Amino acid sequence: MYDVIVVGARCAGSPTAMLLARKGYRVLLVDRATFPSDTISTHIVWPPGVARLERWGLLPQVAASNCPSFERVSFDFGDFALAGVPPPVNGTRQSFAPRRTRLDTILVAAAVAAGAELRDRFAVQELVADDGRVAGIRGHGEAGGTVVERAHLVVGADGVHSIVARDVEATAYDAKPPLACWYYTYWSGIAVEGVEYYSRPHRAFGIVPTNDGLTCIPIGWTRAEFAEYRSDIEGNYLRTLDLAPTLAERVRGGRREERFYGTADVPNYFRKPYGPGWALVGDAGYHKDPITAQGITDAFHGAELLVDAIDEGLSGRRSLEEALADYQRRRDEALRPMYDFTCQLAALEPPPPDLQELFGALRGNQAETDRFFGALTGTVAIPEFFSGAGSN
Ligand SMILES: Cc1cc2nc3c(=O)[nH]c(=O)nc-3n(C[C@H](O)[C@H](O)[C@H](O)COP(=O)(O)OP(=O)(O)OC[C@H]3O[C@@H](n4cnc5c(N)ncnc54)[C@H](O)[C@@H]3O)c2cc1C
Repeated sequence: MYDVIVVGARCAGSPTAMLLARKGYRVLLVDRATFPSDTISTHIVWPPGVARLERWGLLPQVAASNCPSFERVSFDFGDFALAGVPPPVNGTRQSFAPRRTRLDTILVAAAVAAGAELRDRFAVQELVADDGRVAGIRGHGEAGGTVVERAHLVVGADGVHSIVARDVEATAYDAKPPLACWYYTYWSGIAVEGVEYYSRPHRAFGIVPTNDGLTCIPIGWTRAEFAEYRSDIEGNYLRTLDLAPTLAERVRGGRREERFYGTADVPNYFRKPYGPGWALVGDAGYHKDPITAQGITDAFHGAELLVDAIDEGLSGRRSLEEALADYQRRRDEALRPMYDFTCQLAALEPPPPDLQELFGALRGNQAETDRFFGALTGTVAIPEFFSGAGSN
């Protein structure tokens, strides 16, 4: 019998298991994948996520993975571009964009080092319930036989298609269908200083410096155009880059090193993240389009909030139900403004006139431009930026 079983061992699951194990709980961490392994995701971890890696003692390993840090962010709107450095969070200005093969492996190893028991190549098939309360998991490892494991709480950190969320019929709210679709690949030989965003009508693309001297370049189209995009991925990808000619020239001077990776599976939703014997964290409980690159950082934040709640409940300081209700409230309060902002950007429509006016007013005002990048990356609260923008 475990205190907690965590299903899914990437950005949400491993930190949850690690933090619980560090508090002395008996944790089983399962994943059908093995590590290192990749997943569909680009890689930006903005300063609020980096500050958590630092707090957890894992930043030196990320930095040692041959992954450059960066501070500068730019946003090219077509007519003009802004560039700046987001204000720091907890003294951290750096961002990193480690490949998931590296980052997730570091996170899994940290959970194991903290004392969590890892069972990889283990697929959960369904939850086990006692008297209407989730009491464990049923699944199978590589050897094939069905195994049942029991715990006081089962945490679903198992992504968008969470089997935990499905089995408990977790209610979704404020959901929006996918707005954009994304393809990305890796290039060598491109000089980069930081993350570059490009916005064009119905298109968005970016430049992301990642491990081993490679640059990840994701390109987004509207979801409605996914079939057309997919019919000629390379051609459409390169033609989209041509909308920013200087960038296109830089990219054509480099070399594509890998195949294209892509998805249109980017829904936007909140799910109720707890119930009797279960909780959800990361994409399993909340998801939005990756255009603002917040999912990894959100998963880290969610893990911290959830572990605080579980600890309060399992230690008897508070009822678990009450503590988990508070987890939902704190999660939603923290995420709501970025959720709305992200859905607005992911529609890939020209910004409304008031936003265009605001972006225009930022030109020549470096302090406010830096705060804009703080809002985009999560180091400045979005309501704080939009209520005070232009006042400096
Ligand atoms: C195209 C794209 C680009 C992105 N770019 C960024 C970015 O730059 N920055 C950023 O912060 N975020 C980005 N994101 C979002 C980010 O990838 C996710 O928010 C993040 O991966 C969430 O982590 P997670 O641990 O919740 O879920 P996941 O990473 O999906 O991990 C879930 C794990 O659960 C396991 N699992 C699932 N079902 C079972 C089962 N039945 N049994 C056992 N194991 C199971 C899976 O094997 C997997 O390992 C991007 C997403 C996409 C699609």
